[in-house]
Amino acid sequence: MLRQKRDYDAAMQRLRTVTKKDVAGKRVLVRVDFNVPLEKSGGVVQVRDDRRLRAALPTIKLLQEAGAKIILISHLGRPKGAIVPELSLEPIAQYLKKKLNLPVTFSTNYDEPKLDTIVLLENLRFYEGETTNDAGFAKKLAGLADVYVNEAFSNSHRNHASMVGVTKYLPSFAGVALTEESNMLASLTTEPKRPFVVVLGGAKISDKVGALTNLANIADLVLIGGAIANNFLSAEGFEIYRSFVEEASKKDAGDYVAVARRLIDEHKTEKVLKDNYIPLPKLLYPIDVVAAPNLDTTDADELKTIDLSHDMADKPEKTKLQYLDIGPKTKHLYSELLAGAGTIFWNGPMGVWENPLFSAGTQAIARAITTSRATTVLGGGDTIAAAHHFHAEHKFSYISAAGGAALKFLGGEVLPGLKPLIIPS
Ligand code: ADP
Ligand code: MG
Repeated sequence: MLRQKRDYDAAMQRLRTVTKKDVAGKRVLVRVDFNVPLEKSGGVVQVRDDRRLRAALPTIKLLQEAGAKIILISHLGRPKGAIVPELSLEPIAQYLKKKLNLPVTFSTNYDEPKLDTIVLLENLRFYEGETTNDAGFAKKLAGLADVYVNEAFSNSHRNHASMVGVTKYLPSFAGVALTEESNMLASLTTEPKRPFVVVLGGAKISDKVGALTNLANIADLVLIGGAIANNFLSAEGFEIYRSFVEEASKKDAGDYVAVARRLIDEHKTEKVLKDNYIPLPKLLYPIDVVAAPNLDTTDADELKTIDLSHDMADKPEKTKLQYLDIGPKTKHLYSELLAGAGTIFWNGPMGVWENPLFSAGTQAIARAITTSRATTVLGGGDTIAAAHHFHAEHKFSYISAAGGAALKFLGGEVLPGLKPLIIPS
């Protein structure tokens, strides 16, 4: 099998990870990502998913053990430089205190906050200088502490003052979870146990083109599903009727069907041998699909399974259809290929799993991945939600909750927030 060799920047990214020695007795500014989903129930704001809060615990514990004074900073939502009371971080401080038993106080004072063991400052994005990476704002943040720690991998694709600007003025280190996430994603691209199978689905191809392009060079096999597959089917000349395809924005070059065409062409000579003798293309898209007139139908009689290998005739009754899940043959083929994998990266549901009529593909793939012997990495907000729904979440080797930042990283970009943390080689 041919495989393109390619230097990969992420491989060189050895990060300066914080140790107790770096922070002993010091004031430490820790950039976390506490941008968690909140909901109001009975007049009280509740944290719906505390994963990102828990992710910061190992770093906080290390700093506590080193006797550091901890200043936590984060954004929440998009207040765009204005004070928006609903986007206050105060409920998060309450949660850290009551649910995670941390001695946290909350402060809106960016000039001279009272430094208890741990203080959480108000939403960074109440200040315009945060998102514009304003030097004055970065200096103000740096003035609060002796050392800076980035524990916000999921925000590291943003060139913001608390991610980038501040590192010009303070000794800067990588947090424990950020280092782990970076190492895990880098290992996918540098030394995956083979065969390395990438499963890509979902709807937002615009976010995923970079990762897809780069991983298609590295992986042994790419299995495509979800609405993204519609671009590939269309590129190959299949009629997709009213199926969803994301429209390219003006700044993108060409449309996503053209992107799919280019990827198919680029990899067309690379073959994978299934069962050691059946040659398959490296990039696979569905051979059958489950279709219906709309995605919230509750009527199973409206569903049609279309076998794309021979059920090609355009019939009037097909013109109203959208492809909403991978079909049984595709499910079977993908599952067999996943069973033999050494490493699997999965991002994007195989269909509209939120509707039980179109969830079979995603559920089958979740099962095939978690019952394989591979090292398995799961990413993508909706994909994690789907895995949770199918009670499969805890069966993955690693869950990357970093969304867009992880995709950019896997696309081979050096993230601006990580760059200042790299040990020069
Ligand atoms: P993630 O958040 O995991 O990266 P995306 O945001 O790209 O995933 O896409 C998730 C959404 O894609 C799901 O909510 C699902 O309903 C939708 N989706 C999957 N397959 C299809 C399809 N064939 N047609 C329309 N929408 C789809
Ligand atoms: Mg999503």
